[in-house]
Amino acid sequence: NDEEASAKAAAAIADSGAPTIFDKIIAKEIPSTIVYEDEKVLAFRDINPQAPVHVLVIPKLRDGLTSLGKAESRHGEILGNLLYAAKLVAEKEGILDGFRVVINNGPTACQSVYHLHLHVLGGREMKWPPG
Ligand code: C5P
Repeated sequence: NDEEASAKAAAAIADSGAPTIFDKIIAKEIPSTIVYEDEKVLAFRDINPQAPVHVLVIPKLRDGLTSLGKAESRHGEILGNLLYAAKLVAEKEGILDGFRVVINNGPTACQSVYHLHLHVLGGREMKWPPG
């Protein structure tokens, strides 16, 4: 139907593989508050925090990972690095006893930036199920 077609069209545009704002953050052309950084991963505070701690963890090299749904077997190492970096961020932020890691995949799940990113959220009581 029409709604499905327009959702698909919007997703196609959104997931075009064009550079995103995160490239500028990685290049430090746009300032961000960096919480953790290594050779492959960057973690910085979300500009619109949804919890007292809200950090985004991203691969420096997108390598086709506009979203988790684009993951292939060859991405296994970077996916593991991202998850491990999320733990390091939680540790640094002092929320190891209660934090949540979220990946929004695609327009229906509210993905707005097409460069894979993990949200690390904590510092308050987290509810279940998420919205
Ligand atoms: O999962 P989703 O794609 O919606 O998350 C993108 C996140 O990137 C949002 O939480 C938004 O606040 C954040 N963002 C940011 N800095 C920007 C642009 C977006 O922290 N310059």
